[in-house]
Amino acid sequence: MAEKSERLDKAVANRFSVSRKEVKEKIRRGEVTVDGVVVTNPEHRVFENSEISFGGLTKEKTEFVYIMMNKPAGILTATTDKTRKTVVDLVPTEISRKGIFPVGRLDKDTTGLLIITNNGEWAHRIVSPKHHVQKEYIVTLDGAVTDEAIEGFKNGVTLVDGEVCKPAVLERLDDKNTARVILREGKYHQIKRMFGVFGLGVNALTRASIGGLKLDENLGLGECRVMTDREVLLAEEKNTCNI
Ligand code: URA
Repeated sequence: MAEKSERLDKAVANRFSVSRKEVKEKIRRGEVTVDGVVVTNPEHRVFENSEISFGGLTKEKTEFVYIMMNKPAGILTATTDKTRKTVVDLVPTEISRKGIFPVGRLDKDTTGLLIITNNGEWAHRIVSPKHHVQKEYIVTLDGAVTDEAIEGFKNGVTLVDGEVCKPAVLERLDDKNTARVILREGKYHQIKRMFGVFGLGVNALTRASIGGLKLDENLGLGECRVMTDREVLLAEEKNTCNI
């Protein structure tokens, strides 16, 4: 497999946590070296193991960062948006400069566990259905959960547009209108569309866990924190529930 490369200005911004704009000027002024040689073109391609020196420091490799957020309603799951606030806007600037992006997508009105990282390969393992990482949601519906819906989720729901979902878990909780749903894929508005097939509307939706990682209950809505190494491993855990 060909070694992945990236633009020098992007690599410096990520590795040294500085803004892209500031980096470009410094590169043009000859303040950055790649493997010991001054490079003045911000678009020069560098590799993961290229040694980059900047401001008296030398770094090989981008440092990965993993953030756990309790996403509030009303905020867009995106990196940037022209007018609307995004989840990345809620992360402190010293971290958001590291080229971070949300892992998968929660709807604007969905709350709960969202991971934000700058590790693309890791994020792919969490999101891709092939890796069997399950996501657990708590749903409040506009009606009672029916046996038909429970059975339908178990067998794999066929959505109105003909798209077929993988088998999922639907369990009633104490309040007859609330339920626990476990999915191992993330189609657009998936849970809302799955319940729609059974004539049920979703009034509230929150994500409780990803793989073996549960949302830290000390995080208030809109708050986030850096994940521990153990939590990074927990999020990758496969088949945490038998579906
Ligand atoms: N399913 C939905 O419908 N919305 C979400 O945000 C997540 C899963």
